[in-house]
Amino acid sequence: MPSNKLILEKKELPESIKMLSELNDKFYSAEGRYPMVYIETYGCQQNEADSERILGILTSSGYEITQDKQKSDLILVNTCAVREHAELKALSNTGNLKHLKETNPNLIIGVCGCMIQQEHRADDIKHKYPYVDFVFGTNMMHQIANIVYTARMKKGRGFFVEDYQINPGTMREDIPVVRESSYKAWVSTMYGCNNFCSYCVVPYVRGRERSRKKEMIVSEIRSLVEQGYREITLLGQNVNSYGKDLYGKAEFGSLLRDICKIEGNFWIRFMTSHPKDATEELCEIISENPKISNHFHLPMQSGSNDILKAMHRGYTREEYFRYIDLLRAKIPDICITSDFIVGFPGETEQDFELTLDALKRIKFDQVYSFVYSKRKGTPAEKMADQIPEQVKKERITRLLEIQGEISGENNKKYEGKTVSVLVEGESKTDPDMFTGRCYHNKLVHFKKPQNAQDIIGTFVDIKIEKGDAFSMKGNIIQ
Ligand code: SAH
Ligand code: SF4
Repeated sequence: MPSNKLILEKKELPESIKMLSELNDKFYSAEGRYPMVYIETYGCQQNEADSERILGILTSSGYEITQDKQKSDLILVNTCAVREHAELKALSNTGNLKHLKETNPNLIIGVCGCMIQQEHRADDIKHKYPYVDFVFGTNMMHQIANIVYTARMKKGRGFFVEDYQINPGTMREDIPVVRESSYKAWVSTMYGCNNFCSYCVVPYVRGRERSRKKEMIVSEIRSLVEQGYREITLLGQNVNSYGKDLYGKAEFGSLLRDICKIEGNFWIRFMTSHPKDATEELCEIISENPKISNHFHLPMQSGSNDILKAMHRGYTREEYFRYIDLLRAKIPDICITSDFIVGFPGETEQDFELTLDALKRIKFDQVYSFVYSKRKGTPAEKMADQIPEQVKKERITRLLEIQGEISGENNKKYEGKTVSVLVEGESKTDPDMFTGRCYHNKLVHFKKPQNAQDIIGTFVDIKIEKGDAFSMKGNIIQ
């Protein structure tokens, strides 16, 4: 652990919010303004959910959220450690913050999230980025008001990392949250992961599985639905093992059933499921409950049994295929998406062809594919036969080409059909178009209607005219 110049005295959350609020009042009221916070978030939905909580605490302490770094009094970078690329991007953007500090010496900069849980990282940042005021790991998120207060009062640098092996992470239920959207919400069901896939850093940086109490999750969702939220996405690194630590057995099915009993017009999505824990009961629950979106994200990672074994995934390709058959038998229109890693150590051309074969057999609706990235401290880091970058690139290009055709064919099947879409707003690429996601979680574009602003966050029916590899296009049915 890096040594802390600043010592963080333990403070309860309400107490630290009060202290920081008073400090803000004193400092910024004199200037006749509120302090501004900017947060940059990398990585998965869990990180986005964490940022919403960090902002919840900071806005409760008097900060206003800004999208403009130049105007910020506090900048936070919430990092991801899953792949090297995400780390490099976060570090390079942290490097770009230096000049802001030159123009605004009162600016406070903090780096947080998964990267910080890796021991060497906190030290790296300490030495390479002398203008970063503090870092804190995912385990310390609820301390943010205390950390900012301490950094501002004592004008020093703080490195606050707790070791997951020592502290399995107390789960806080009292953290205020500022949600980015007013109609779709992330809801964490559990934190951490016990699986230790041989390539993955998550169990090291997020700790062991810790499930939230079922009543807490259901009551959070009930309140969200009452506030008008239309889409609830249940989060967990391995949602279908939800509850094992708390109840002695997996309770994801029963959690879903309880959520479906909540009255109201809303959808439930969930991610991520692990093939080794996916049950027949889960297929039944999805098929029986129209509130659960007909979308299943089930990372396969590789189509080769040798590679799956080396990855410690705990299933074979045949078992994976059987589960997909079961899923399709119970829910014929289920949309299936997956993750694949290309170029895992030892992956031969034959292994890779088995992955391509799996894509062709299953005909996934969409696949997220990643070039294998060496992660410090994982067993795969030390494996022989690391694959050259050139070979990885060539393989992922082949994979993307084949999957592109398959996704296009799948989306074409929707042409002429009418789908329900939760409207998100203007398309990022064409201001005349609106976008949203359908019940099956596919991206749908449609012509911006007259009453455009009124329909954001509502369900509309769209008749699909065209489907291609990445999205579908259609028209609103009045
Ligand atoms: N808990 C989820 C998601 C984990 S991270 C799961 O089990 O699927 C999201 C995805 O990142 C993984 O599914 C995997 O495909 C990819 N990933 C994880 N570690 C990686 C690594 N070292 N290199 C490349 N991709 C990786
Ligand atoms: Fe990583 Fe495997 Fe856990 Fe997913 S299940 S977070 S890939 S260790």
